[in-house]
Amino acid sequence: IPVDLFDLVIFGATGDLAMRKILPALYRRDLAGQLPDGARIIGAARSDFTDASWRDELRRDLADCVPASLQEAGALDRFLNRLGYVPIDVRGEDGWRDLAARIRPKAIQAYYFSVGPDLFGDLARNLHAHGMNSETCRIVVEKPFGHDLSSARALNATLAAHFHEHQVYRIDHYLGKETVQNLMAVRFGNMLFEPLWNAQYVDHIQITVAETVGVAGRGEYYDKSGAVRDMVQNHMMQLLCLIAMEPPYAFEPDAVRDEKLKVIRALDPVAPDDIVRGQYGAANGFASYLEDVGNPDSHTESFIAIKAHVSSWRWKGTPFYLRTGKRLRARTSEIVVTFKDPPHSIFGPQEGQKSNVLAIRLQPNEGIKLKVTIKEPGPGGMRLIEVPLDMSFAEALGEGARDIADAYERLIMDVIRGNQTLFMRGDEVEAAWAWTDPIIAAWDAREDRPQLYDPGSSGPEDALMLMHRDGRRWREVK
Ligand code: NAD
Repeated sequence: IPVDLFDLVIFGATGDLAMRKILPALYRRDLAGQLPDGARIIGAARSDFTDASWRDELRRDLADCVPASLQEAGALDRFLNRLGYVPIDVRGEDGWRDLAARIRPKAIQAYYFSVGPDLFGDLARNLHAHGMNSETCRIVVEKPFGHDLSSARALNATLAAHFHEHQVYRIDHYLGKETVQNLMAVRFGNMLFEPLWNAQYVDHIQITVAETVGVAGRGEYYDKSGAVRDMVQNHMMQLLCLIAMEPPYAFEPDAVRDEKLKVIRALDPVAPDDIVRGQYGAANGFASYLEDVGNPDSHTESFIAIKAHVSSWRWKGTPFYLRTGKRLRARTSEIVVTFKDPPHSIFGPQEGQKSNVLAIRLQPNEGIKLKVTIKEPGPGGMRLIEVPLDMSFAEALGEGARDIADAYERLIMDVIRGNQTLFMRGDEVEAAWAWTDPIIAAWDAREDRPQLYDPGSSGPEDALMLMHRDGRRWREVK
């Protein structure tokens, strides 16, 4: 179903994110027939393109960013015809009038802030100063949203001076992933899980986001940030919220975001013993983190593991173990809910009897699996084995599932539809910083050095101990 007529302006249109994600996502939605006739996409950045030269540039670049199977000459022409370009320095005075003249009052107006975070404030001010902050327009703000609580507050205040909260779309592309939404469908669309979804039945929860890449190429940014700011405060916090939140009264923006906010506020401060920081060393042919960032004294973590507690009736006593890092063994993102063992085994000690596990995999192979214990088929007696019940949509839904939209496609269409459910509210972001700030302040004060780990491993030894000391273990990173 096509969305309503829109003018989408992408500030930073020549940058990496626009080229790799935003423009290919829009092309794919166009290909799927979702962009109405007359919908326009206007690029804005410092480079001196004209409409025609930018289209030429994109004709070449999109060929690299869109799979060959989706490149159809007619569709590409139609898409390129929607595109325009206005040279603008966000901090300068030129170009704004030209841009304002192109915006049609009758179309939905969306402004995508795909520039560095230091420019967000100038951009908001200039849109206002040049009359482009109509009541119905929307702004899409990329991460990072602040560097700590005070900078996030300042940014929220700046945006609020020019736009209402209902116009601000703080993007976290994790929320646009199919499986993340499926997690909500599984939790709130079934009677099966909700009665068990609490500390009485859930032993613990693991959230892992493991990457194989290092930080070379974005070392300057990363070294000022580290794993907690780059991954935990935003993406992992959002995943934790969706697992831990109470059922919202409706799948509506504020209903969902109110419940997520309650979770963040219920998080206990983290004890120093419940944190393990790591930094990859040089091994297996890989350069060390210190070499990658070009800073031999850096104390920044490229790995973090945290044991967190949500102090609520539902979760008191069930730990949430979070870990994320660079240069790990495999590229994996998953949430694992491990249920408690049955109170008594009528079958006696049995190797095959394992705890029930619900594994929600975001990548690779998005899908949800529930591991259950059954009898091993055959005449071998009552021997128990564990089998997965596979809820992966690729298999369950067959053909239709091949066309799973990328997170950016879904989220950008939600912006045009005016649906903020999958975007973070300002108070959520601030509450998340309020939780992570003391974690960072504590190790800054101690001048802790992160523990070294080998590239290709599953992180520092102590991260394993974080679970072993509780009689638990991480799921293997694979
Ligand atoms: P980039 O450096 O590749 O591109 C930045 C863009 O901003 C370019 O088009 C550049 O011309 C433009 N720009 C810079 N200064 C400008 C100015 N004064 N006026 C107008 N335009 C200006 O950066 P990127 O990787 O595309 O990232 C863009 C935003 O998205 C950043 O906030 C980044 O943190 C965020 N982000 C990027 C990624 C990614 O994968 N690249 C992922 C998540 C978030």
